[in-house]
Amino acid sequence: MTFSLHGIAVARGIAIGRAVVMASGRGDVAHYFIQPAQIDAEIDRVRVGRNAVVDEIHRLQQTIAGMGPKEAPHELTALLDVHLMLLQDEELIIGVKHWITDRLYNAEWALTTQLEVLSRQFDDMEDDYLRERKADLEQVAERILRYMKGVQSPVVQPPTPRRKTQQDLLLDDSIDVPLVLIAHDLSPADMMQFKQSVFAGFVTDVGGKTSHTAIVARSMDIPAVVGARSASQLVRQDDWVIIDGDGGVMIVDPSPIILAEYGFKQRQAELERGRLNRLRHTPAVTLDGQKVELLANIELPDDAAAALKAGAVGVGLFRSEFLFMGRKGQLPDEEEQYQAYRRAVEGMEGMPVTIRTVDVGADKPLDESRRDEAHLNPALGLRAIRWSLAEPDMFRTQLRAILRAAAHGRVNLLVPMLAHAGEIRQTLSLIDFARAELDNRGAVYGAVSIGAMIEVPAAALSLRTFLKYFDFLSIGTNDLIQYTLAIDRADESVAHLYDPCHPAVLRLVTETIAECNAQGKGVSVCGEMAGDVAFTRLLLGLGLRSFSMHPAQILAVKQEVLRADAGRLQPWAQEVIQSEDPAQALAL
Ligand code: PEP
Ligand code: MG
Repeated sequence: MTFSLHGIAVARGIAIGRAVVMASGRGDVAHYFIQPAQIDAEIDRVRVGRNAVVDEIHRLQQTIAGMGPKEAPHELTALLDVHLMLLQDEELIIGVKHWITDRLYNAEWALTTQLEVLSRQFDDMEDDYLRERKADLEQVAERILRYMKGVQSPVVQPPTPRRKTQQDLLLDDSIDVPLVLIAHDLSPADMMQFKQSVFAGFVTDVGGKTSHTAIVARSMDIPAVVGARSASQLVRQDDWVIIDGDGGVMIVDPSPIILAEYGFKQRQAELERGRLNRLRHTPAVTLDGQKVELLANIELPDDAAAALKAGAVGVGLFRSEFLFMGRKGQLPDEEEQYQAYRRAVEGMEGMPVTIRTVDVGADKPLDESRRDEAHLNPALGLRAIRWSLAEPDMFRTQLRAILRAAAHGRVNLLVPMLAHAGEIRQTLSLIDFARAELDNRGAVYGAVSIGAMIEVPAAALSLRTFLKYFDFLSIGTNDLIQYTLAIDRADESVAHLYDPCHPAVLRLVTETIAECNAQGKGVSVCGEMAGDVAFTRLLLGLGLRSFSMHPAQILAVKQEVLRADAGRLQPWAQEVIQSEDPAQALAL
C-alpha cells in the first residue's frame, strides 16, 4: 500500500530504489557488496558462525544437565531450547542466503537484514509469548555476529551502483538495483562509511538540516531526508521507495503512476545538471563586473577531485575532524595527517586550501562509544578549539602537519569556535610553538595565513579583537545560527525554529562582512547558507565575495552570481536585513 512520510529536505534530487532498513545500534556492522565469486564463502561464514553458537549452547546444556534446579532453573533450560530452535530455523538461513546471493550483501549485512525481516514477523504476532521471542532472536543474531567478527571476509571495494532510470526500474529488478538507506540515526562517521556511494539516497528518523550527518549527505550529492520520525519503523526491508530530497518527502511502495511522475522529475533534474555543467569554466563574475570566489567544502583529501570537477577555485573549508573520527582512540599521527593534508593541497593543483583544525564534539563524536560520555549539553561543551586547547600535544601534532603541508602549496589555517581573547592568544602561541618544534627538527614547512571562524555570537560581537589577530575570518553560519537562537542544529523537534533569516543572525553576518571589508581583511561564509541559492543575492548585496560550499552546490550558486547585479542588490539587501520579517522580504 502506498504511503508517504514527511521530514526535512537536506540534499536535493530524487532517488528511487529498494529500502535497506538499518536497525538502530547496528551502525557498527560492516555494510559492503561482495563479488559473485564470494557468495559461497560469505554463506559459509554465517553457517560457521551459526554452528559455533549451536555448539556453544550444546556445551552449556551439558554443563547444566548435572546441576540441580537451584543452580540451573528450568527457565534457563527452556531458554536454551528456544535459542537452539531459532538458530535452526530454516527461515533465518534461507533469508540470509537470499540477501547474499541475490543482493550481494556481505554476511553481517545479510544477517542483520534478515533479522529485521523476522523481527517484524514477531511484532505482528497475536500471542504475547511468541511476540516476546523477538528478544531471543536478537540475542541469537548478536552471538552469531560476535563470532563472525573473528572470521573476517576479504575487504572488497563496493561497486558504484549505476543510477537507473525509471524505465530500467520497471523492467529490471536485478542485483544492481539502486538501494536507499533508511535508518533511525546515522552518525557522521557512519555516513563516511557510505561515502563510496553504495546508496542512492537516505532517510533518517532524526536529525536537523545542518546536522553533520546531513552535511555529509549533501557532500555526497545524494537525495536525503532527515527527521522523518518513524521511517525506520514503518518501511520494510526491500520496499520500493522514492526519496524526494527537494520536497523532504519519501513515498513507500509507489503506484506505477507515481513512479512515472518521479521518473520524469528525475530526468528533468539530470537535464538541469547537464545545463549547469556548462558553467564549469565560466568565471563567477556579476553583471556589474564584481569577481566572486566560489570555494569548496571538503571532508577528505580525495574530495579535492570533486571540488576541481565542480569548478571550485580553492577549498574554503577542509573539515579535518573526519580524519580523526571512528578510530577508537588511535588518533592519526603527524605523518599520517601531513600526507592527508598534502594530498588535498596537491589535489587542488596550486589553488588555496583552507584547513580547519579539528572540530570534534557536539554531533561529531570521535567514536560512537563516546556518544554516551554524556556531556549534558555537548554543543556547549568541550568541542572544537576548546578540545584542541585541552589536548595541546594532539593540537601541536596537527599544527605541525598542516605547516609541513603548506610547503607544497597555498594553505590557510582556520580555527573553529573561538570566543575569548585568551583562547586566541593561546592558539597563536601554540602555532608559534609548533613552528619552533619544526625548526628544531630542521623540518621543511611553509607560510600560512591564519583565520578564525565566526560561529559564536560572542565572536561576532568582538570583531575588533578578532581582526587584530587574524588575517581573515570565515563565518560558520551553521553554528552561528545554532548559538544565536539556542537551537540544537541536530534536533528535528526544534528544526522549525532554526532560522537563517532571523534578524539577529543576519545582523551578526552583516556586521562581520562589513567590518572585514572596511579593514581590507578576507571574509567568507562557509556554513550551509553559502551553498543555498535562496541566500546568494542577499549575501552579495551585503558585500560578500567569497562563498564556500559543497562542490555539488557550486554551479547553481554560480548561475545566481552570473545573473546578479551586486551594485543594485546593495540597497535591497539593507532593506531586507532591517525588515521585521526578512524571510518574507526574500520571498522564502
Ligand atoms: C559552521 O558551523 O557553519 C561550519 C561551517 O562548521 P561545521 O558545520 O563543521 O560546524
Ligand atoms: Mg561549525
